Amino acid sequence: MSETNPKLRAVLDGIPTYKPGKPAAAGGPVAYKLSSNENPYPPLPGVLDDVIAAAGSLNRYPDMACTGLMNELANRFGVPVSHLATGTGSVGVAQSLLQATSGPGDEVIYAWRSFEAYPIITRISGATAVEVPLTDGDVHDLDAMADAVTGRTRLIFVCNPNNPTGTAVRGAELERFLDRVPSDVLVVLDEAYREFVRDEEVPDGIELYRDRPNVAVLRTFSKAYGLAGLRVGFAVAHEPVAAALRKTAVPFGVSQLAQDAAVASLRAEDELLGRVGSLVCERTRVYEALVKQGWTVPDTQANFVWLRLGERTADFAAACEKAGVVVRPFAGEGLRITIGEAEANDILLHTAEAFRREL
Ligand code: PMP
Repeated sequence: MSETNPKLRAVLDGIPTYKPGKPAAAGGPVAYKLSSNENPYPPLPGVLDDVIAAAGSLNRYPDMACTGLMNELANRFGVPVSHLATGTGSVGVAQSLLQATSGPGDEVIYAWRSFEAYPIITRISGATAVEVPLTDGDVHDLDAMADAVTGRTRLIFVCNPNNPTGTAVRGAELERFLDRVPSDVLVVLDEAYREFVRDEEVPDGIELYRDRPNVAVLRTFSKAYGLAGLRVGFAVAHEPVAAALRKTAVPFGVSQLAQDAAVASLRAEDELLGRVGSLVCERTRVYEALVKQGWTVPDTQANFVWLRLGERTADFAAACEKAGVVVRPFAGEGLRITIGEAEANDILLHTAEAFRREL
């Protein structure tokens, strides 16, 4: 037997494995998970019924074209089916977009800090990551991002609202940015948290995409629709991009359970968006209480808040865990706290108040 290991791509050296949010400790007195921007509500009974019905055919491959879901999405958003592509979560679609556009020698621009999958999937594609710092107010610096475009730029991620800061860019600045980006560079508007946006000046990417062939919009069923465990997301983009996505997608990457649950969720959208409304009320409550306690909290349009704690990040995360809520620390930078059930948010607020007094 040979002593050497299989040759792996050198580009993988130093790329971290995606780190999921820490689960709530099993067996603890109370344990709430506020670390992955999930929806605290369980699936609607009607959605579960459809999942259970679909499970009866698990011996079969799913419908690879996701026909039912594509038709439902096309109706819901007023776009042609040919402008849609589904994938294994929106992160799966983002990875397909990179495969379709970018490779060694190419450049991919995104803000930093932003969604932590961007550097991983960009570097896996072989392209060079160009990270543009957020402004002091933790918002995308769109002028600097447009300045960073070169002849090698193939794709730009704009995470709107941004994970982990919750901040969102508004219509006028986003349109000015899109006008500056060359039309052969794909701009990906990652709108994983779109349904939580309440600032009316934050544009709906699906409206922006309509007359811009170089814009792709990413959406997911993981957050507002509460289906994170089923892994289904989609892109809206003009035909050449959507067709490329269908080529690069993992075959059968969206299970029939996921497809049927997504269709059932779109049909029960009023109820699900009502839950989103309750979460937005909780977000306002948490945000205002934190500000009253003296914290500086960037305006959030997503289902989480961001506390820039610097060196105290790990200490605050540990205090939260001791109190029964698990949050998401980014070492040395800050803490992302998902808005959860009211009891969980109360624990978080009590912990934050006690911690604040010690600062
Ligand atoms: N985009 C952003 C900005 C996210 O925060 C997330 C999930 N944390 C995703 C995409 C991926 O979501 P999913 O793959 O579950 O659709």
